[in-house]
Amino acid sequence: MEKKSHNAQDVRAAMADMMASKEVFRQAVSYSFEYMDGVSDRPVFPEQKALDGLAAFDEPLPETPGDPKQILSLLHEKGSPATTAQTGGRYFGFVIGGTIPAALAARWLSDVWDQNAVLHVASPITAKLEEVCEGWLVDLLGLPQGTASGFVTGTSVATFCGLAAGRNALLEGAGWDAAIKGLFGAPPLRVIVGEEAHATVFKALSLLGLGSENVEKVPVDGQGRMDPARMPELDERCLLILQAGNVNSGAFDSFAEICPKAKDAGAWIHIDGAFGLWAAGSKRFQNLTQGVDLADSWSLDAHKTLNMPYDCGIVLCRRREALAAAMQASGSYIIYGEERDNMLYTPDMSRRGRGPELWAALKFLGKEGVGQLVDGLCDNAALLAEMLRERGFRILNDVAFNQVLAACETDELTQKTLAAVQASGECWCGGAVWKETQAIRVSVCSWVTTRDDLERTANAFFQALKTVTMG
Ligand SMILES: *Cc1c(COP(=O)(O)O)cnc(C)c1O
Repeated sequence: MEKKSHNAQDVRAAMADMMASKEVFRQAVSYSFEYMDGVSDRPVFPEQKALDGLAAFDEPLPETPGDPKQILSLLHEKGSPATTAQTGGRYFGFVIGGTIPAALAARWLSDVWDQNAVLHVASPITAKLEEVCEGWLVDLLGLPQGTASGFVTGTSVATFCGLAAGRNALLEGAGWDAAIKGLFGAPPLRVIVGEEAHATVFKALSLLGLGSENVEKVPVDGQGRMDPARMPELDERCLLILQAGNVNSGAFDSFAEICPKAKDAGAWIHIDGAFGLWAAGSKRFQNLTQGVDLADSWSLDAHKTLNMPYDCGIVLCRRREALAAAMQASGSYIIYGEERDNMLYTPDMSRRGRGPELWAALKFLGKEGVGQLVDGLCDNAALLAEMLRERGFRILNDVAFNQVLAACETDELTQKTLAAVQASGECWCGGAVWKETQAIRVSVCSWVTTRDDLERTANAFFQALKTVTMG
C-alpha cells in the first residue's frame, strides 16, 4: 500500500501536525514575550526602515500552502516593528488604552475556545460571562438595576445601538412601530446634541436615517460642555445626546443639571461616555458623572480607560426590551433560550465573545482597582500638564480628567513642534484644533505610563520646541 505523504500541499495533515506539536503556538508565545519586553525601549512610532519593511507583504496570493513557522516569523520580523507602541508607556495618541495582562491572558485562552457568542445554546460560557459583566458594570457605574448591555466592537457601534433603541422607543411613544414601518412617513423626531459631540454620534445618526441637517446643536462653554441655559425646550419626541469626556478636553456635560429636566420632558437621553463614563468607577472622579444614572442609554469603551485589549465597546440601555426590540432578528434556526442570548442586544449575530476577557479584567481589578486605574491616568495627566507648563507650553484645557491640550506661542510653532515630537520616537501624540487654536493633544490612557515616561515625554516636547525655534 502506498504511504500517504504529508507534504506541504496536504493542508489538513499539516494543520493536524501543528495542533499535535504545538510548535507554532510556542513560537507565537515566544515572539509575544519578545515584543512585550521590547515595547518600552523602541521608538513609539515605527522607524522608516520598519515602514519600508512592510513591502515584504506585497506579493500575490500564494498558489500552494506555506510553512506556518515561516509565516509567523515573517509576521513578527516585519510586522512587529511596524506597530505603534500602544502597549508601552509613552503612546498618547487618540484615546488608546494599554492592556490589562489578566484580560490579555483570558483572551488568549478564549481565542483557543473560538466560541460564537451569538446564543446561549451556541456558547453557554460566553453568555454567562457577558451576563455577569452586565451586572458588574451596572454596579460599578451606578446605573439603574436591570439595565441591559450589548457587547460590541466599540463606542461607534454602541452609540448606534443606544440611539436605535431611543429612536424606536420615541416613535413607539408616538404610536409608530419603526421596526415594521421604518421611517417612511414616521412622525418627526428632534435630535439635540452639543456643538462638541463626537464625530461618531453624527455617523450613528446618519446610519439611523436621522441625517445631520435637522440636528439641533447646543452651544458649549470654553471646555466643550453644553451650556444648560441654552438648551432648547425638550419634549417626548427628543433624542438628547450628552457626553462624558470630550475627546479633546476631557470635559463632561453637566448631567446633574441637564438630565432631570430632560427626563421630566420625556426625552430619551443617551450618553456618549466612551472613555469618561469610567470616572464613575473612581471615588475621586465620580462627581463628574453625577446624574448619568438618569439617562436611558449609554455607550462606552472598555478598550480605552479600562485598558482592555481591542475590541470592547459596550452599549447599556435602561429599558431592556427597547434595546432588544431595536436589535431584533428572526429566523427559524434561531433558538432563544431561558438564558441570556447575546445577539438580542447587538446588531451582529456571529461574533467572538467579549465576556471572558472583560470578566477577567474586572475580577482582577475589583472596584478598588478600577478606581486606582482611573485615578492614576488622571494624576499622570495633571502631572504631565504641569511638566509641560514648566517647559514653556501653554495648556489650553482644564485638566479635569485624562486629556491634555498643549500649545506653543503660535499655531505654526505648535504644528512644527508636534511634527518634531512625533518624529523623535520618544513618544507619540496627535494634534487637534481647539477653539480655533492648533493644539498638541495628549491622552494619558495607559496603566503602563510611569513618572519616568512623563519626564521623558515632557523633555521630548522641550527638545522638539527648542529644535524648531532654533531651526
Ligand atoms: C473613541 C470615542 C468614540 C468612538 O469609539 P470607538 O471605540 O473608536 O468606536 C466615540 N466617542 C468618544 C467621546 C470617543 O472618545
